[in-house]
Amino acid sequence: MTSPAIHPCFLGPYGENDALLEKLVVEFLRDHVYWRRNFHPEDPPAIPTGAAGEPAFREFEARMRRELHALSASLKKSVPFHSPRYIGHMVSDLLLPGLLAQFLTLPYNPNNVSLDAAPVTIDLELKAGLQLARMLGYVDDPARPDCAFGHLTSGGTLANFQSLRLALALKAFPVALRAVSPPGLDVPEDDWAAFNLAPAAGIDLLERWTAWLAHCPTPQRRQWRQRLAAERLESLGLADFLARHPTLSTPRVLAPVTAHYSWSKGMKLMGLGRAQLELVPERGMRTDIDALETMLARYEHDRQPVLMVVGVLGSTEFGTIDPIHELVAARERWAMRGLGFGVHVDAAWGGYLATLFREADGRLRALADMREEYRDFPAPEVHAAVGALGQADSITVDPHKLGYIPYGAGAFLCRDQRAMALLAEDADYVFTPGEDGDYFQRFRQLGRYIPEGSKPGAAAAAVYVTHRVLPLDHEHFGQLPRESILATEAFRTAATRFSARLRDRVTCRIPFEPDSNLICLALNPAGNRDVATMNRFVRALHRDLCYDPRQPLQSREFFGSMTTLRPEVLGAGETADILASLGLDPATLDAGGDDDDRLVILRHTLMNPFLLDTGNGISYLEMYFEHLERRATALLAAAA
Ligand SMILES: *Cc1c(COP(=O)(O)O)cnc(C)c1O
Repeated sequence: MTSPAIHPCFLGPYGENDALLEKLVVEFLRDHVYWRRNFHPEDPPAIPTGAAGEPAFREFEARMRRELHALSASLKKSVPFHSPRYIGHMVSDLLLPGLLAQFLTLPYNPNNVSLDAAPVTIDLELKAGLQLARMLGYVDDPARPDCAFGHLTSGGTLANFQSLRLALALKAFPVALRAVSPPGLDVPEDDWAAFNLAPAAGIDLLERWTAWLAHCPTPQRRQWRQRLAAERLESLGLADFLARHPTLSTPRVLAPVTAHYSWSKGMKLMGLGRAQLELVPERGMRTDIDALETMLARYEHDRQPVLMVVGVLGSTEFGTIDPIHELVAARERWAMRGLGFGVHVDAAWGGYLATLFREADGRLRALADMREEYRDFPAPEVHAAVGALGQADSITVDPHKLGYIPYGAGAFLCRDQRAMALLAEDADYVFTPGEDGDYFQRFRQLGRYIPEGSKPGAAAAAVYVTHRVLPLDHEHFGQLPRESILATEAFRTAATRFSARLRDRVTCRIPFEPDSNLICLALNPAGNRDVATMNRFVRALHRDLCYDPRQPLQSREFFGSMTTLRPEVLGAGETADILASLGLDPATLDAGGDDDDRLVILRHTLMNPFLLDTGNGISYLEMYFEHLERRATALLAAAA
C-alpha cells in the first residue's frame, strides 16, 4: 500500500490536493504583488486605475482570453503523465514543493547567469548542487578545498556535454603547462605522461601551479598566465593543439552500449568526432568489465589516449546499473600504468535512487538494512556501485526525471570544485587566493563556468525547495523511489502470474532483470518461431499503449513505451539465449525482411507513486496485465 507520507506530495491523479495548490498559488501571487507595491509606494500607478474600462484594454483582454482558452483546450490532448495508467517514459506527476517554488519564483524572473541578475536564486542553485553532492557521496562542505561543485542545466544532455568539457580541459591542461614549464615547478616528463594524468593528479598539478603563480611578482604573473593560456587546447583548438604535440592523438570516450544518444551528440559538439566514441560491450545490459579491460590494454599498446569511461546508473532502456566501483578501480589501476582517464557516471535517470542508500547523517546505508525492505533490491553489486559514486570524477543527474521536478532541470556535478577553474571563461585558473574568495563568492559568477548563459532561477528554486522539504535520504525523499522499487517488484510478480496464465497463448519473458524501476517485457505468440511475426504482434500491442492524436485520450487504457533488442548490442551469446527463451528460430532473425533485424519489446517506467493499491482495492499494475491479456487474446483471435 502507498505510504501516507506521499499523500501531500503531489497534486494527485484526481487533482485530490487542488485546494492546497490553489491556496498557495494565490497566497504567493498576492505576496509578489505586495512586493512590487512596496518598492516605491510613493510612485503613482503607471497604468491608470480606470484603464480596464478602455476599449483597447477590453479588446486586448478578449484576445488574450480567446487564445488562452484555445491553448487550455488544446492542452487537454496532452499525455496524462500524472496518471498511474501512464507507465511509458521517464516522467510522472510533479512534486508540489517544486511546482509551487516555480510558480512563486516565475514573476520575479531571476536569471541564474550571475549574481547581478539573480541575487537570491544563484545561491539556491549552488546549494542545490551541494544537496545533490551529499546525496551522491561527494564532499559537500564548501569550507573544504576539495568540496564538490554542482550546477543545474537544461537537462541530462547538457550535463553530459559539460562532463566532456571538464574532462578535456583537465586532460589537456598538464600538456599546456609542460609546454610553458615554469621554472621550479615539477611538470610531467613528457607529453604522453602529461596527457595521461588521472584527473586527481591533474587537479593536484593545477593547485601547485596556482600556488607557484601566487609567489610570482605581479607583472610576471600576468605574463605566465598569458603564456599558459596561449598553449591551452581551449585557445588553440584540437587540431593545432595536437599538431604541437605529435605524440598525442584525439582521446577516445568509452561508453557502454546502453549509453544515451546524448553521448553521440556530445562527441560531435565537442569536435572530438563521433568515431572517437567507443561502445563497451554489455553483459546483462551492464558494462562488461572484462571487455573494458581488453579495450584499455589495446589502447595502452597502441598509445591511444582515453578521455573518460562513462558508467550508466540506470540505463534509459533497461534500468540497469553499471559496476561503478569497478570502473573507478580500473581508473586507479590504469593510471598507475600511465593510461590516465576520468570516470563519469551518467545517472540522469538513476541518480535519485541514491537517496535510498543514504542515512540522514549522510552515511551509506548497510546492505542488510536495505534488503529487509524489499524482496530482492538492491543487488550487492548495485549497493557497491552506489557506494562508489563519490569516487567518480563527475556525475549527471536529472531532477526533472526521478526528482519529480518540472522540465528543464538537469544537473552536473564534479567531485572537486577546484577543477572548475579550468572552465572559467576568463583566466580564473590563475586567480590568486585573495581574488578567489570563498566557494559561494567564486561560483556566484555562474555564467563563467557553465555551457549556457541566461537560465531560469525558477528551476533552481524548485530543486532547492524540494530538497529542503524532502531531504535526500531514505527516510524522506527516499519514500518516492522506494515506492517505485516496490512497484517494480510487484510488476515482476504480476508478470510471472500473467506468463503462467497465458502459457498456451503467449510466451512472456523479462529479457533483463532490472536493477531499478524500468522493466521490459518480450511477448511472443505461443508456437510462433518467426521474428517478424513476433515484432508485428508487439507493435500491435504497443499501438494500443501509445498516444494517438486521432483518438480521444480516454480511449487509451494505459500508456507504455517500446524499445528494441539488437543483435549487434547483445552479442551472439545473449541473442541466442533470448531467441531460445522465446521459442524463436534464429534463422528468421535478419532474414532480409523489413522488421526482423531486431526484437521489439515493451518498456515500462514505474515511477508513478500510486501504482500499488492505495487502499481502495485497485492495483494499476494488476489492471495493466489484465489489459495486456485482453489485447493479446483479441489480437490472436483476429490473426487466427
Ligand atoms: C534522460 C537521459 C539523458 C538525457 O537527459 P535529458 O534530460 O533528456 O537531456 C542522458 N542519459 C541518460 C542515462 C538518460 O536517462
